Amino acid sequence: MWFRRDLRVDDHPALAEACAVGEVLPLFVVDPAFASAGQPRRALLHDCLAALRDATGGALVLRHGDPVDIITGVAEEVGATTVYVSKDAGPYGRARDAAVADALRAGGRRLRGVGSPYAVEPGTVRKDDGGAYAVFTPFSKRWRATGWADPIDAPADPGWIEAPSDPLPERPEIELEVPDPAAAGARWQEFRAAGLDGYADRRDLPAVDGTSRLSPLLKYGVLHPRRLLVESDPSIDGHRVFQSELAWRDFYADVLLRRPDTAWENLDRRFDRIDLDTGAAARTKFERWCEGRTGFPIVDAGMRQLATTGWMHNRVRMIVASFLVKDLHLPWQWGARWFMQHLLDGDLASNNHGWQWAAGTGTDASPYFRVFNPTAQQERWDPTGEYVRRWIPELDSSDYPAPMVDHAAERREALARYQAVKAAAR
Ligand SMILES: Cc1cc2nc3c(=O)[nH]c(=O)nc-3n(C[C@H](O)[C@H](O)[C@H](O)COP(=O)(O)OP(=O)(O)OC[C@H]3O[C@@H](n4cnc5c(N)ncnc54)[C@H](O)[C@@H]3O)c2cc1C
Repeated sequence: MWFRRDLRVDDHPALAEACAVGEVLPLFVVDPAFASAGQPRRALLHDCLAALRDATGGALVLRHGDPVDIITGVAEEVGATTVYVSKDAGPYGRARDAAVADALRAGGRRLRGVGSPYAVEPGTVRKDDGGAYAVFTPFSKRWRATGWADPIDAPADPGWIEAPSDPLPERPEIELEVPDPAAAGARWQEFRAAGLDGYADRRDLPAVDGTSRLSPLLKYGVLHPRRLLVESDPSIDGHRVFQSELAWRDFYADVLLRRPDTAWENLDRRFDRIDLDTGAAARTKFERWCEGRTGFPIVDAGMRQLATTGWMHNRVRMIVASFLVKDLHLPWQWGARWFMQHLLDGDLASNNHGWQWAAGTGTDASPYFRVFNPTAQQERWDPTGEYVRRWIPELDSSDYPAPMVDHAAERREALARYQAVKAAAR
């Protein structure tokens, strides 16, 4: 069993199938490609692996190196006939798995994919004519109708095969608090009991702890979304909205599977022609955004929450993203890369499509001409200023900078640049 984004033994269809067939070696490959992930995510991965090692009674085998070499080598070492995985829908993972499958085949072995990190496997939710959905709402309807299986128990007595292990990957020294993977189930039950009923009303208020905070644990598959869906009740408003957020997660994975180029390129290629700022002055603006010193409190609070905690409230993610693209006229890829470096839940599909949504270059939910006003957003979602004060202690002093741009003027500028693209496309 080759673990990747499914770092659990409970409710694990691939592991269950492997255990039903024979003895199993639990393996994780520390791929050199992980070095490019931000420090928060590397720390979380370390902790998830430590928890998985405990959950396997110490049997988890780690090997550092290229997955093709390691998987074929270990399969030969233990005489495995089949290597089980949960399927990966991302561009890197698919290419890697194709290479591993080829190498295994050459040795008379096979790679067998069972399940995925999503409630409904990417590529499954399709129109009657077999085409993919380009828009979220019809996708989510079909997604619900497709449904998901019930969670399954951990294998009773896996009879793990033992093999020598390399050490855990190094844990970066960071100050921020990493969620405890061993407490994932408890966190879900706590949110389910205290937060889920009120989720629809509270999820947009950044000052309030009104969301599940499960994204980092979902990212590494410590929990599978199927459990959250089965244990919530769509006849209750808050639950239904929560389920719909999990549908967004599946939707973006589906979009990325279909259009792997959209990881870093505009989904709507007409926007390749939009005029963006990328010179030295743009770099300076970008740095102010990163540091949380734009002079727009809701933007700065969000950027500081991200730097300090490795997480940012969803409403504020939308606001800071809109500000980068529409007020500063910078490429969304700059912001997406910064997020991937700093988020504990950094995930290529959700992040980069979240950014494309904000930039108006992606699926059609937020057209380009809809520009968030950061001041109005703050008044609406943080009316007492509790959130912005929490993250900007100097807010009321002369140390806090004046707004770095005039929002009304930049809004006009963004719309003019958009009009130019539209005119050129005619
Ligand atoms: C610009 C931008 C970047 C983002 N980057 C990421 C990212 O890298 N990783 C990530 O997991 N989410 C990302 N999101 C989506 C969302 O902000 C986070 O999933 C959410 O804030 C996580 O907090 P939570 O677990 O408390 O969410 P909850 O509100 O409790 O939602 C439950 C779960 O649903 C999923 N979810 C919720 N909202 C979304 C959404 N809009 N898109 C996709 N899945 C969603 C997440 O898995 C989340 O854990 C991004 C959104 C934006 C606008």
